[in-house]
Amino acid sequence: MELRILGAHQGESDSYRFFSLMVSDSLTMDAGSLTSSLSWEAQAHVRSLLLTHAHFDHIKDLNVLGFNHFNRGLHLDVYCLPEVRDAIRTHMFSRDIWLDLSARPTPGKPAITFHNIEPYRTFTLEGYEITPIPSIHTVPTVGYKVAKEGKSFYYTSDTGPGNVDHWVRANPDLLLTEVTYDSSMDQLAVEVSHLTPSRLKTELQALKKALGRLPRVVVLHINPVYQEEVAREISLVATDLDADITIAHEGMRIVL
Ligand SMILES: [Zn+2]
Ligand SMILES: [Zn+2]
Repeated sequence: MELRILGAHQGESDSYRFFSLMVSDSLTMDAGSLTSSLSWEAQAHVRSLLLTHAHFDHIKDLNVLGFNHFNRGLHLDVYCLPEVRDAIRTHMFSRDIWLDLSARPTPGKPAITFHNIEPYRTFTLEGYEITPIPSIHTVPTVGYKVAKEGKSFYYTSDTGPGNVDHWVRANPDLLLTEVTYDSSMDQLAVEVSHLTPSRLKTELQALKKALGRLPRVVVLHINPVYQEEVAREISLVATDLDADITIAHEGMRIVL
């Protein structure tokens, strides 16, 4: 597997992008930066999108990719919880804003088709084994474990602390986890269900205890305002736990 992180932050500028991940040229995860990061040609290869939740930073480019596909006669299959589909159809695909891409050009042959997922119901997509795994967040959210040819990674999506039982069950070779704020912002982080480096450390300690090892860890979804402090604290966590932890960046490629 060769993954490419298109967007690695909770913010957008000419150098930061909201989260999107390419599992392959056609299989993608979250839509924070699918069109802002991909060429016109590359977008045409995108056939499948796994969504973790309906927060705007994870769906921002869905309308744009759907619109581009609509105009090019292409089709996108979107996999998500029913609550996520309903939020997108109600708000993002509202005709008050633009067009309902799940019903145009025709309801029988729309640009975007939604498919329901269920926590822990594994399905096969484009040769990958996909398992949705619940996360703790302010809206219904799953992360995904993706496995192929004996290798696996697990993306937590946005998550607050206390989800480690699910991380243990995922038992991946690579853990892609969010850390949004620095450790001085613990109260806010818990309130809005995100992690800080010190909260990640607690989760990783519990994971190590349960598994007897730690997977390789890549940290993403850092709010750019706190980038420097989070990076500094994460390097201390890596040293303390003797763990392989790196900070993600836009365009990062990971080979599994
Ligand atoms: Zn969120
Ligand atoms: Zn987010």
